[in-house]
Amino acid sequence: MKGCTLRCMWCSNPESLHARRQIGVYPQRCIGVDKCGMCLTVAPDPAALVVEDGRVTRLDADDPQDYFACAAVCPTDALKVWGQRATVGEVMREVLADRDFYEESGGGLTLSGGEALAQSAFAVELLRAARAEGVSGDLEQSVATLPGGCDEWAIGSAGVASAPSPFPRINAQRNRYLTSDYSVESQRAILVTEAYRSHQSLKPLPYLSLLIADCTEKGRDVTAGGARYNSTGAQAVGLGTVADGLAAIRHLVFDRRLTTGAELLAAMSANWEGFDYLYALVNGSKVPHYGNDDPYADDLARYAAAVWCREVTRHDDAHGGRFQPGMFSVSSNIPFGKMQGASPDGRRAGEPLSDGIAPVHNEPGPHDHKGVTAIINSAARLDQRLLTNGALLNIRIVPSSLEGPQADDNLASLIRAYFRRGGSHLQIYVESREVLIDADAHPDKYPGLLVYVNGYSTLWDELGETLKREIIARSELSIDENTGLTPPGQGF
Ligand code: SF4
Repeated sequence: MKGCTLRCMWCSNPESLHARRQIGVYPQRCIGVDKCGMCLTVAPDPAALVVEDGRVTRLDADDPQDYFACAAVCPTDALKVWGQRATVGEVMREVLADRDFYEESGGGLTLSGGEALAQSAFAVELLRAARAEGVSGDLEQSVATLPGGCDEWAIGSAGVASAPSPFPRINAQRNRYLTSDYSVESQRAILVTEAYRSHQSLKPLPYLSLLIADCTEKGRDVTAGGARYNSTGAQAVGLGTVADGLAAIRHLVFDRRLTTGAELLAAMSANWEGFDYLYALVNGSKVPHYGNDDPYADDLARYAAAVWCREVTRHDDAHGGRFQPGMFSVSSNIPFGKMQGASPDGRRAGEPLSDGIAPVHNEPGPHDHKGVTAIINSAARLDQRLLTNGALLNIRIVPSSLEGPQADDNLASLIRAYFRRGGSHLQIYVESREVLIDADAHPDKYPGLLVYVNGYSTLWDELGETLKREIIARSELSIDENTGLTPPGQGF
């Protein structure tokens, strides 16, 4: 909560010192006033936005409120409003979204700041509301208001009931967008089935059939359905790419009308060249993205996955079984991406598609920016029961967040909460971006560095350059603070 009576030199949350809303300036995120300059067009006094080396570096204004419009139009969050007004009910909606995690870990809501009691009436109401919902509440205080130094007060909790998750409403726009995928998937299923049928007649596998249960008893080759269990796996890649593309179209063209479909198409046809503002916008946090616990984008991912699963399972395979849909890409998101043109999620032509059911990370950086629990919540919104051949969520955790005494419990809670919410397959890779970048530059220093790719592990040295870039670009997440933010410009 914003507002504090102290001004400690070592404060780690300086944005919470002042009670009023402010504008934070992040010069490294500014793409340059020559390429963008949107903030200058809406600033009451453009000279108040100090520009150095072509980037906005400071706001020099008495009342930052007059410049909130600059932050609203900034596509990269180089200008960001610090602070948000919220009612007790609005905060509680956020709190209750994570109740599964509290139940698993014994955790709850902690009010901190700044000094939470600088807004004491609100703090008390919020803690009462949490207690009424059975969520424990803590208050972290500074020495200025509580004799004895920084402290925490436990408010207590009771059992928590689960709420049903919202189901997405299918509309004509999304149907139109995915119509082509229907037919493509059907054609693929038919072609795969025909290929297997050819296999049965031209190249049966009698020796393998001897080793598989029921083939001998049935007197039937494994390629002809002799096995007890028959199915054919069908994998999809790029779910995040599709979801973020749909979200960008819906948000920018239909809801906010910040661009037109024609302009978006022109930008993709030009591989985003000459469309810097739009490129920064679709890759920035102003557009909702899958992986941030935001139903706007997550429901589109859920919808796209369900459509694809339904289409795949409509078809019988050549063995007398069914096609089983799955989403784990191994490394096929790299070659499939090479074959694809630019996409509306802000991906340039030839760049990798998103892997498994993980969020997107394009060249400017990852699209998820709210930490590991947000990713978990987004992935758990998919109906993973439909993905009978597996749904892999790949996340990378920084080693330092696994070092404290709470680390094991935190990790166990995270895993349990994901599976409790319907997750089916979670793979966690522990390595820092710093080490990977160093290994890339100095391979001799890391002769045995084993990296987890996507369903398999291998030596770093044996990976191709594109795959190395893709692994380096993955979000770096922390499980001790849930603030696994990747600075912009460190993407693929
Ligand atoms: S709007 Fe943002 S990115 Fe564009 S020039 Fe201003 S600060 Fe830079």
